[in-house]
Amino acid sequence: MKKYIVLAIAVILILICVISLTPAPEPDHCAICDSIPFHAPALINLATGEVGELEIYEPHPFKVAELNEYQQGGTFSFLYVAGLHGYRDTANWETHITIPSDQNEYEDKYFCKTCRERLSQCKKQGYALVDLKDPRNPVIYEIHKDTNLTIRCYEITTGTTDTEGELELIILGTLYVKN
Ligand SMILES: [Zn+2]
Repeated sequence: MKKYIVLAIAVILILICVISLTPAPEPDHCAICDSIPFHAPALINLATGEVGELEIYEPHPFKVAELNEYQQGGTFSFLYVAGLHGYRDTANWETHITIPSDQNEYEDKYFCKTCRERLSQCKKQGYALVDLKDPRNPVIYEIHKDTNLTIRCYEITTGTTDTEGELELIILGTLYVKN
């Protein structure tokens, strides 16, 4: 009788190992390559699959992922992107987002097999930046304390805040805007 109990426990343990090692099934819609295109860089929440644009400029009224030729500017608005809070200040053509120090673990169930490979270069938790001008060919960038990138007319850097481990993601627009 004891033998059977030991055998049953062994089988259960093997099954638990197999299930935990099996990758999650691919989603119907990948959070990255099935996204709508964005002109500005986007932020991905690796734990929830939320993707949002870190926009500065006004979008074109009907062309996808293009900017309006006329930029009014001079406004301030709060943003909520990929689960994080920030603001957009078009008086200075900049967007700021606060990246918290406590970051959740990456979940592969929101991403297709190809994007899981693309994300393998990023750390396995928190957030990443992605250029989604062409979502079928996304370019993914890790966010760290020395981030310094240029994507089209956006300069992206990070700064520290008063809270230890927290980062401020700063996106500055470099487009020449006629007034
Ligand atoms: Zn994908």
